[in-house]
Amino acid sequence: MPSRKFADGEVVRGRWPGSSLYYEVEVLSQDSKSRLYTVKYKDGTELELKESDIKKQSGNSISRYNGKPDRIGRNDVSHRNIQDKPYLSQESSYLATQYSLRPRKEEIRFEEIISQEERNVVKEPKSVKIFEITATEPEDLEFGGGFGAFSIMIGLPVMLFMLLLMCREKDPSLVNLPPPLPPLASFWETRVFGVCLLWFFLQALFHLLPVGKVVEGTPLYDGRRLKYRLNGFYAFILTSVIIGISLYWGIELCYVYDHFLQFAVAATVFSVALSIYLYVRSLKASKEELSPGKSGNIVYDFFIGRELNPRIGHFDLKYFCELRPGLIGWVVINLIMLLAEMKVQQRETPSLAMILVNSFQLLYVVDALWNEEALLTTMDIIHDGFGFMLAFGDLVWVPFVYSLQAFYLVSHPNEVSWLFASVIIALKFSGYTVFRCANSQKNAFRKNPDDPNLAHLKIIHTSSGKNLLVSGWWGFVRHPNYLGDLIMALSWSLPCGFNHILPYIYVIYFTILLIHREARDEHQCKKKYGLAWEKYCQRVPYRIFPYIY
Ligand code: NDP
Repeated sequence: MPSRKFADGEVVRGRWPGSSLYYEVEVLSQDSKSRLYTVKYKDGTELELKESDIKKQSGNSISRYNGKPDRIGRNDVSHRNIQDKPYLSQESSYLATQYSLRPRKEEIRFEEIISQEERNVVKEPKSVKIFEITATEPEDLEFGGGFGAFSIMIGLPVMLFMLLLMCREKDPSLVNLPPPLPPLASFWETRVFGVCLLWFFLQALFHLLPVGKVVEGTPLYDGRRLKYRLNGFYAFILTSVIIGISLYWGIELCYVYDHFLQFAVAATVFSVALSIYLYVRSLKASKEELSPGKSGNIVYDFFIGRELNPRIGHFDLKYFCELRPGLIGWVVINLIMLLAEMKVQQRETPSLAMILVNSFQLLYVVDALWNEEALLTTMDIIHDGFGFMLAFGDLVWVPFVYSLQAFYLVSHPNEVSWLFASVIIALKFSGYTVFRCANSQKNAFRKNPDDPNLAHLKIIHTSSGKNLLVSGWWGFVRHPNYLGDLIMALSWSLPCGFNHILPYIYVIYFTILLIHREARDEHQCKKKYGLAWEKYCQRVPYRIFPYIY
């Protein structure tokens, strides 16, 4: 058996995957089969490295077991195309992006060189194992840990049913809380559950159709890339055809409005059953298939999800649930509310408020399905496992809470003047522009950092091999896409008037959700990018709302 070059506990210098940077690391162990060393970085990150990516500490080097990179090695020259491009050592370029020690003019010049240089760094080979997945430490648990997760799992369904019951009340003011509870038996109807199952499996069938292009997702922790079929938009078209035929045949779609509460109960039961299935199957999943968010705490893991990409054959359960049954279900429910409004209020045509709510939200859903590929780079797909949080969120919360404005308008009519409608439409489209442009800019940059259309944008180099945009939309605030989303959310509530807070619950909830999501994302980005992220935060100080937050 060949001898080991580095002993356990030895402090050495390890190369950061995908870059030429060497950091001080501690050797934890070596796998006798693969010969890979498990090393620990100062920030706690554990990686598996090849022997050739590790060096002994040089005697005169200043200890940098502090997150700062060491100088590059000779063998790293092969990772660059130095040709006639200005050459700058990775160490100095990295440090140049981290500290503003130079006059501004010089700093800009440095950044130009850095961005040019970064564009020439060869990307990590796909087969390389990138990260070792370790359980999240108890102090790092999100959502308040096990207790928080438990409270959310109880609190969200309770809140959902309160909202739905209130919405049916003549006067849904907060003073009338809690709404009267109907008899328990009326919450359940087996036929409704059957309709829910039919809907879920119909959407699954559409997803299985061999139409739409197949793309690769972002590299997983073991370097693999999963394949995804993009056919959400086709599923939407097919669903629209089925709805059209149902209307033509005179099928009573208002059945959904009449049994709305029972539909919400059925969807909740289904999402809980799905979460149990997901948790049980995750117990057999290999280490590589688990999400980085899992903790070892049963309640928390049931909530956050243990398995990152649970699949039955090629059928990806999380990816499917993210955009299909719930999201398409949301706009179908909206349409049914529009029909219900005409029936309940005996109108020949739907109200302007209902048309605005329906068309705004339809645009949002169609946009998401049209840009389906963008889902592959979201936190939900990359970071979060599939557990109760996403199962309930995707299959219950989205269709039943996001359609609350349309549901509200059925029994609380609101006349909107054309002038006010124009203001709301302008607000919606300004929000949509920010949302769409920001998301498209980042997705285009992540897809191809050398995209000539993005050449004018400034970037910050990071040691992970990916760069950060620091101008354009992502130089305005750190989450311009959230800002756009929130502006749109407000425009969905305004057509409901100002009589009650109920139609504004969505925008209130969504603000809390996105502020919390932004904090989670910051935490992840800080882990991923370290000092480069701090530099980005200095350059772009506001998170979501310019000059406010
Ligand atoms: P984002 O699309 O905002 O992605 C965040 C990631 O973008 C970061 O982790 C980082 O990942 C990358 N990133 C951050 N800053 C930069 C930068 N300056 N330059 C380049 N890359 C950067 O996250 P979400 O998944 O939360 O949101 C996606 C969309 O979905 C948003 O528009 C959001 O509003 C919407 N959304 C809607 C919800 C709803 O219920 N309607 C719920 C949640 C989200 P990396 O560097 O690894 O690429």
